[in-house]
Amino acid sequence: MKPQELYIYNSLSKSKEKFTPVHEGAIGMYVCGPTVYSNVHLGNCRTFLSFDLVFRYLKHLGYKVRYVRNITDAGHLENDGESGDDPILKKARLEQLEPMEVVQKYTVDFHTTMAKFNALPPSIEPTATGHIIEQIHIVEKIIKEGFAYEKNGSVYFDVVKFNETNEYGKLSGRKLEDMIANTRELSAQTDKKNPQDFALWKKAEPQHIMRWPSPWSEGFPGWHLECTAMSTKYLGNNFDIHGGGMDLKFPHHECEIAQAEACNHTSPVNYWMHANMLTLNGKKMSKSTGNYILPNEMFTGENDVLSKAFSPAVTKFFMFQAHYRSILDFSSDALEASEKGFNKLMDAHRTMSELSTSEKSSLDIESWRKSCYEAMNDDFNSPILIANLFEAVRFVNSIKEEKETISAKDLELLKQTMNDFLFEVLGLQNNDSETSQDGEKLAAAVELLIQLRNQARANKDFAMSDKIRDELSTKGIQLNDGKDGTTFQIMN
Ligand code: AMP
Ligand code: ZN
Repeated sequence: MKPQELYIYNSLSKSKEKFTPVHEGAIGMYVCGPTVYSNVHLGNCRTFLSFDLVFRYLKHLGYKVRYVRNITDAGHLENDGESGDDPILKKARLEQLEPMEVVQKYTVDFHTTMAKFNALPPSIEPTATGHIIEQIHIVEKIIKEGFAYEKNGSVYFDVVKFNETNEYGKLSGRKLEDMIANTRELSAQTDKKNPQDFALWKKAEPQHIMRWPSPWSEGFPGWHLECTAMSTKYLGNNFDIHGGGMDLKFPHHECEIAQAEACNHTSPVNYWMHANMLTLNGKKMSKSTGNYILPNEMFTGENDVLSKAFSPAVTKFFMFQAHYRSILDFSSDALEASEKGFNKLMDAHRTMSELSTSEKSSLDIESWRKSCYEAMNDDFNSPILIANLFEAVRFVNSIKEEKETISAKDLELLKQTMNDFLFEVLGLQNNDSETSQDGEKLAAAVELLIQLRNQARANKDFAMSDKIRDELSTKGIQLNDGKDGTTFQIMN
């Protein structure tokens, strides 16, 4: 029996709340996906991996989870504004591609990267362009409810009107009066009644080639609309969890709430979850400022901020050593420390199968296991979970050194719990856990090469020892020399 009292920090109430799903045993979760006009950077990956952890843990607890994560392939204008360019169109012009070629290229990159990190695919991955009709229906409904107006072929959400009966700003903690007081005069070109109003439908300029017919104009949907359309279509008008990066709270998620409430007269989401940012040099990793690292640069070491290459599992482990709601600053030193920790865990995992058992345990494995669940049940606290897993490393070493004893039953429980959390919940890949015969043969062959390299080193034949290391590295097998010998990692 797994302890199941799960608490989630709800960004809407700004407190940890006991989690109760709308439908017992089943969970609907929506996470805003990437805008596919460039390669995802490590910051984007952090957010998606934070929610992969949530998805994996909810499944581990036995819930049936429908996880919807969209692909934004239209409508997300730069500067969140009405006047900004469409980055997909901009990229298409730059690379002389069809916009859909841009979309395809970077969707494939996103999927490949997520697979390298061993992130599970969502249950449904809908696209904005595949849901234009649904989005038009929502605009029609909001107009009918009196919360939107048409001007020159575009349709805008009337924030002031909405705020008379609802609370615009409740997620981000902003007050409409303050927003109005802090904005300068409306510029002459805009069709909006108020600067806070946001576009539901935009009439396309002649050069805007991604366009669809609608009752108002040939145009395209506003960015916030797609997530309302796709989340409610697949999860219902009131669903359990909505996630995204902290930077999406305002205006994106605030506008999603307004659209859904205007349309369906009900609060769309019970638990809003926001993942915090990965920073580099103390500043948010971001494509637009050039302050970012790409996942492939991590895996090859080809970036000046990196001292060496790091595997996807180590990179992910580094991220999970911070809680998803804390800011995490990237540094090569911190990654090297994470790599050491990761290798220790993997060594302990390997050693577990060699331990001898006793009649009685001197360790309390059951209560240790409970604390692993308590950590995750406390708003997915992965750093505390990892501290508990390191406690298990201490157990393993003490048993090995015969300072502690463990019964066969407890050893089974220890192994099972370690496997569950390392591989199922954290989703870390371990070369040693490879169960296929091919994997075992590969491991045996690499071990043999490690021995030959050790012999070469002992004979001071450094040309040969370097050749073995470098050739393996070009084939994606990285050797790590530690004080307890050499281990290897297969880079995906
Ligand atoms: P975008 O493709 O820009 O919509 O971003 C995709 C996701 O990555 C969103 O959930 C963002 O909040 C998230 N994100 C962007 N930059 C960072 C960062 N530096 N750290 C963590 N998440 C980020
Ligand atoms: Zn969204």
